[in-house]
Amino acid sequence: MSDYESKINRLIGRWEGKKAEGKETIEQHKRKEERDALRQTVTHTNPNASVETFRETMETPVVDKCDVLIVGGGPAGISAALAAARASTKESPIDVLIMERFGCFGGVITTVGMETLGWYRYEGCTVDSEGIGKELERVSKRMGGSDRKWAFNDSECLDTENFKFIADMLLEEAGCRTLLHTSFVDAIMDPDDSTKIIGVAVENKSGRGIIKAGRVVDCSGDADVAARAGARFTKLNRKDAMGLTTVFNVVGVNKEDFLKHIEKKPATYEDWSKTWQQDTTGKEDDLKSPYMQDEFSELNDSKKEKKEPISFGGSWSALTEKGEATNLNLVHMKGFDPLNAQDLTKAEIMGRKGVMEAVEALKKTVPGFNDVKLRNVAMTMGIRDSRKIIGKYNLTGRDVASQAKFEDTIGVFPEFIDGYNILILPTTGRFFEIPLRCLQPDTENLYVAGRCCAGDMVSHAAMRNMMACTVTGQGAGVAAAISFRNKEPASKVTVKDVQAELVRQEVNIHGYVGAGAEWASGMTSGIKSKI
Ligand SMILES: Cc1cc2nc3c(=O)[nH]c(=O)nc-3n(C[C@H](O)[C@H](O)[C@H](O)COP(=O)(O)OP(=O)(O)OC[C@H]3O[C@@H](n4cnc5c(N)ncnc54)[C@H](O)[C@@H]3O)c2cc1C
Repeated sequence: MSDYESKINRLIGRWEGKKAEGKETIEQHKRKEERDALRQTVTHTNPNASVETFRETMETPVVDKCDVLIVGGGPAGISAALAAARASTKESPIDVLIMERFGCFGGVITTVGMETLGWYRYEGCTVDSEGIGKELERVSKRMGGSDRKWAFNDSECLDTENFKFIADMLLEEAGCRTLLHTSFVDAIMDPDDSTKIIGVAVENKSGRGIIKAGRVVDCSGDADVAARAGARFTKLNRKDAMGLTTVFNVVGVNKEDFLKHIEKKPATYEDWSKTWQQDTTGKEDDLKSPYMQDEFSELNDSKKEKKEPISFGGSWSALTEKGEATNLNLVHMKGFDPLNAQDLTKAEIMGRKGVMEAVEALKKTVPGFNDVKLRNVAMTMGIRDSRKIIGKYNLTGRDVASQAKFEDTIGVFPEFIDGYNILILPTTGRFFEIPLRCLQPDTENLYVAGRCCAGDMVSHAAMRNMMACTVTGQGAGVAAAISFRNKEPASKVTVKDVQAELVRQEVNIHGYVGAGAEWASGMTSGIKSKI
């Protein structure tokens, strides 16, 4: 084992210790009993009610039917919808519907304002899954929705406002049906098999309705569908879960003055450790980071004194020529449960107040920011961490850090770990394969993609990243379409067929590197967007 491998293994080992301290709980909603009780209440006499009987007795109409339903329109959901629709053929078309509770698609990209799908791409990061994640960056650039790079490396920064429109265009071009302003509220299970999902109940301005679906892909970030369907999941307690963040943008930055200030006082990843106890492998420490902390000392001291669970400091992103500083990831709240509406309310309000305070601190302490004006506060605060399903396979930190390979790989992700006070940047070219099984919960005909897929804390710190979410989204979308077409239960889908379709969709499922690589021969299939 090389020195590097020993080091990274020691880091992961410390994490496993944390897990052993019991910070993570396994939970499961009492689904079967709840369902049986519900069925008896609504059907009075017929405990084996079908969805149609539901309709008559609850007066809940079946408002739509589809082959593949995607719940949630973030990076995972968009990728799942595009992938499922692109798996359609003339001979066997797949009807795909994507639903989202807010008024736009994009998830954390558009509703929180996070513009960097691949900020980890420092020199030495040679492998990505390609597929839809990279396509989102390419299409955004082509459509004028990405006109700048991240501060200290070659990553594209998406214009998160523009991305709302780009997501609409991509979904339309692929032939997906769309439903906005619609919240998932419950899972509809097969009356004869309470472990099999057959649709969802939704709420919107038109009222409550049922959408029947052949396969459901849960891309809600919080595994809402899986939890309501009775699947097992893990959840960290309030104290140990990653913090919530209110992102904001300002205008009026004097770019020249600010960049001079940064030059004089450059920040590195080692500086992160001044505030957060953070482990790295050492190779990250001297890399430049768009990071601010000392600028908020006074504000942080006053909050500490008042024992308020909010802190200031973190990253800026790219600056535009027009003096906009977007994606300011500087206001963090800790100790709130993102699955509790009261906690969410308190944190939203605290975060907005924090943004006003942060703007004043920036004006006072940061050269170039003296005259800035708040341009917007994210429409919702960002959540990093809530439920993670228990899957057929639960990815581990060891898998991430040992270049794991799986027979049921659906794509790869670089060895990039960011979270729970650990930072490993993928500067070595190392990467791991992602197995389909970590998208398969113990509910039939359901796949789960995005940040709530199955794994331990360390693997979550890798898999929560948006590019990884596009890999699981695309994998889940293809698997849902193939299992529906093959008439196989989602848990028994033919993996070879899923992989063949992913390769046709130009996903680098094994992480071959460089020009001339075997997989690259499929690059001309024309499956990507022509927009
Ligand atoms: C502040 C912050 C900064 C981050 N920075 C980065 C970064 O720089 N780079 C990076 O790669 N990653 C970053 N991440 C992580 C990354 O953004 C998320 O992990 C990722 O967006 C998760 O993708 P997802 O598709 O699983 O979920 P989301 O992006 O959360 O999308 C889920 C979607 O489902 C919808 N939804 C939820 N519940 C329901 C429901 N009941 N009914 C209907 N719709 C529903 C939501 O409205 C949302 O649109 C950051 C996260 C946060 C919070």
